[in-house]
Amino acid sequence: MAIDADVTVLGGGCAGLSLALRLAERPGRTRRVVVLEARDAYQHDRTWCFWRQTPDRFDALIRHRWEHLRVRSPERDVEVDCRLTPYQMLESGDFYAYVQAVIAGQQAVRLETSVTVRGEPVRIPGGWRVETSAGDHTTAHVIDTRPPRSPGRGDALLWQSFLGEEVLCEQPVFAPDRADLMEFDETTPPEVAFTYVLPLAVDRALIETTLFHPQPHHPEDLRARQRQAVAQRCRGAPYRIVRSESGILPMGLRGAPTKTRAGYVVAGLMGGGARPATGYAFQRIQVWAERCAVALRAGRAPVTHAADPRLTQWMDRLFLEVLHAEPACGPSLFTALFANVPTPRLVRFLSDQATLLDRACVVTALPYSIFLRQLFARLPVSGLRRDLG
Ligand SMILES: Cc1cc2nc3c(=O)[nH]c(=O)nc-3n(C[C@H](O)[C@H](O)[C@H](O)COP(=O)(O)OP(=O)(O)OC[C@H]3O[C@@H](n4cnc5c(N)ncnc54)[C@H](O)[C@@H]3O)c2cc1C
Repeated sequence: MAIDADVTVLGGGCAGLSLALRLAERPGRTRRVVVLEARDAYQHDRTWCFWRQTPDRFDALIRHRWEHLRVRSPERDVEVDCRLTPYQMLESGDFYAYVQAVIAGQQAVRLETSVTVRGEPVRIPGGWRVETSAGDHTTAHVIDTRPPRSPGRGDALLWQSFLGEEVLCEQPVFAPDRADLMEFDETTPPEVAFTYVLPLAVDRALIETTLFHPQPHHPEDLRARQRQAVAQRCRGAPYRIVRSESGILPMGLRGAPTKTRAGYVVAGLMGGGARPATGYAFQRIQVWAERCAVALRAGRAPVTHAADPRLTQWMDRLFLEVLHAEPACGPSLFTALFANVPTPRLVRFLSDQATLLDRACVVTALPYSIFLRQLFARLPVSGLRRDLG
């Protein structure tokens, strides 16, 4: 049977386009790449932020950089000086436009929009058959980056649900040189809920309400809190919402994140693209895209995301378990992290580049009694005690 493509990427979002970009620039031995994307047109639908550590291929696309951040709870106000590794913002609209322009100028990669992939690819001799809204498509390799169809309680240890709005205020109420990474309020019942504020100008900011919870939350569930957060940040002045974005990201996917079938890999959020403890995925996706492009250029099979080092997996899991079991501790844990760990070490830890010493600093910065409680709760004897009442 004739095969239509060497590699077919299901979904042309962050992961699909990041890989397409690398292969469009240098295809090597993989000369027929197809990206199947459901949407008709790309819009600025999300804002990617991450810490800048080294010169980066997207430097020219960065719209804002902050050298000062703040993490606040009712008990503590922590100023974070990140001049060495500024926190920077890339608008997805700029990224999509840039990748589309690169793809338009070459032959190896074809981006097909308005094509919805239906169901799961089916194994055929020499590859896979993919059923789409535009008919059947055959390919030697599949890279599936489609997001979770219906995020559910139990599929991840916690879900990060958020609703963000870019507001234009009639008065100058924001300080554009400092972003609020996390501002915790009192919540009843106790929840890990906070506001994230990226000031873009004195009268413009992206204000986001975020919740870490075992249950994924629809943006509408966050609407009332968001309205309150925006009103408070605009200090009662009239404002206009110019754009909104929302997401539900897995924090600690349960079960095997990757399907290991010959010539079929899962990548992006469902392939382990998101760091469990933070939900941040943009930089991890870039690292994966580089690795996967190297394999494909050499004529090898595609690869999925590399597993995190065991110690990182263990630390992230324990951290999430603590947030799950004792959400009231969330504000004190995050403020302790930012107050007690030197910023370069914390940034390396959050950006998957931690040394052993960085990890040790993170561990010693946190109130150990909470973590010991959680470790004790893991012991079989704790379950037995619970069972006995
Ligand atoms: C609003 C928002 C803000 C975020 N902010 C940050 C941040 O600041 N920093 C950070 O590191 N991470 C952030 N993330 C997390 C992560 O970086 C993004 O979710 C990222 O887009 C994940 O990439 P992906 O390729 O896995 O998924 P997506 O980018 O969502 O791509 C999946 C693609 O698949 C397409 N698709 C879906 N179903 C089908 C189908 N059946 N057929 C064909 N195509 C299909 C979709 O249209 C989409 O284009 C954010 C996420 C969101 C939603």
